[in-house]
Amino acid sequence: MDKKTNIRTPDLSVVIPIYNEQDSLFELHNRLKHTLENLKVSWEILLVNDGSKDRSIEIIRILSQRDERIKYLHFNRNFGHQIAVAAGLDHAQGKAIVIMDGDLQDPPELIPKLYAAHRSGHDIVGARRKMRKGETAFKTSTARLFYRLLNQITSVDIPLDTGDFRLISRRVVNTLRQMPEKTKFFRGQIAWTGFPSTEVLFDRDERKYGKTGYPLWKMMRFAMDGVTGFSTAPLRLVTQMGFLFSFLSFLIILYAGYSHFILERTIAGWTSIVVSTMFIGGVQLISIGILGNYLSRIHRNVQGRPLYVITEQSERFVLNSEF
Ligand code: UDP
Ligand code: MG
Repeated sequence: MDKKTNIRTPDLSVVIPIYNEQDSLFELHNRLKHTLENLKVSWEILLVNDGSKDRSIEIIRILSQRDERIKYLHFNRNFGHQIAVAAGLDHAQGKAIVIMDGDLQDPPELIPKLYAAHRSGHDIVGARRKMRKGETAFKTSTARLFYRLLNQITSVDIPLDTGDFRLISRRVVNTLRQMPEKTKFFRGQIAWTGFPSTEVLFDRDERKYGKTGYPLWKMMRFAMDGVTGFSTAPLRLVTQMGFLFSFLSFLIILYAGYSHFILERTIAGWTSIVVSTMFIGGVQLISIGILGNYLSRIHRNVQGRPLYVITEQSERFVLNSEF
């Protein structure tokens, strides 16, 4: 392999979405660079600035100017974490790609372990957290519950207790890029490809600087994308609920008739009417909401808009079209 192709096709790309990470960027860069230099492979780091409102982009520009192996894409507004990762995967050149967070919760020092597992024949190497330091009990327990529930209702095995920190091979990336859906849920999509996979355990650190870019509402939207992207169980559940409640109300009608005509006793139940009406109303609203979620998914995909808009990128960027 001549030198030119070597630069173009590094052994390893590290894709990192960045949203308001100005305080962690220098440390992230130092630790990454140190780890990658010791790994003795050719590498590139691809930072995707997801419309940060702080000075992240200025730092990214400086880092990229100093070292041509550090590349960046810049969105002028916040498109969301998964979309930033998608842009990174579209532009990464490496034979293997590591996806990780930029807030140092995913330790860069784990990369050699991921790479070693990849070299021993795995296309997907997940980083599974043993412990999650500094996260609220609420976040940890809802995350646990969510992944267990998701695995119950989907046909793909999405690994438990993993975020997006993982290494994937070029052929996994190529497969992902063939999945045209606009609503991305990479941990599910990667598992869906079915390539040989393994896991490496690590302790997830707490966020050192700044604050989470994932408030509760974003987490809920993300969870919904996971469910609607990989399962139609909620739609079936709605139908089953519909049958169940129709059957129950039929029984109640029978009983009301019996009580009126046979027992000659009319039930003067205001409470029961209000309670059951509200209950059925609630069930209906939830059902419509679930339908709406699938509908909005179709809507977003039918619109066919580009997934992201890059307003600036590092020089010497070769668009990844040859793959
Ligand atoms: N992030 C992003 N866009 C967003 C939110 C987050 O690119 O809208 C990035 C963020 O900079 C970090 C990663 O995605 O590198 C994970 O986000 P965060 O640490 O806020 O999530 P948490 O670890 O709290 O789930
Ligand atoms: Mg984090």
